[in-house]
Amino acid sequence: MKTIGLLGGMSWQSTVEYYRIINEEVANRLGGLHSAKLVMSSIDFAEMEELQHTNRWTEAGEMLAGQARGLKSAGADFLLICANTMHKVAGAVEAGCGLPVLHIADTTADEVKRAGIKKIGLLGTRYTMEEDFYRVRLAEKHGLEVMIPSADDRAMINRVIYDELCRGITRPESKKDYLRVIQTMADGGAGGIILGCTEIELLVKPTDFSLPLFPTTKIHAQAAVELALA
Ligand code: GLU
Repeated sequence: MKTIGLLGGMSWQSTVEYYRIINEEVANRLGGLHSAKLVMSSIDFAEMEELQHTNRWTEAGEMLAGQARGLKSAGADFLLICANTMHKVAGAVEAGCGLPVLHIADTTADEVKRAGIKKIGLLGTRYTMEEDFYRVRLAEKHGLEVMIPSADDRAMINRVIYDELCRGITRPESKKDYLRVIQTMADGGAGGIILGCTEIELLVKPTDFSLPLFPTTKIHAQAAVELALA
């Protein structure tokens, strides 16, 4: 079994889910007392969020690359960045530590394609929904047509992530708002929706909607186990 390196704390609300899902998946596959070999680092998310909103992505990449070097010396064979947004600096992390990063957009796109879906809605932080690093990868590398919500809805989705979900708050009103946005994208022709922020699945579950919803934490964590046991 390979050792999985988790770059966590972005936010810790979803990092605990990674830890749980990875261990459950290894136990399911290997049985008995088996659990995952993993090493984890966990940053102070307030520091990272400050770098994000002041547009200091080079520093953000350096911070994560420093954590990644620590995981490499602790024995990690490959890395997971436990967030969608921070994949904006996935290249800098790989280059800065020399370990491969299992990219969350690739593991998610593989699931979307397996479900036979071409046109997909994307929810996430404003960085993930609006910038190129995630959408363009889905489109150019995986041939998916990506829809995002309206500007007002993107602002609401982003606000709920930082003001509620990353603080461990799940409000029924916010869930209703998210489901309304999902319905609008479904009406616009989306065959499914990527829950492209690792905290969204704490609020909205795949069973909450009739179309397929793709929970990126679960998909990413399961793909890590697949790779660790390959
Ligand atoms: N966990 C989040 C994501 O998947 C948002 C927090 C962050 O900005 O890293 O994008």
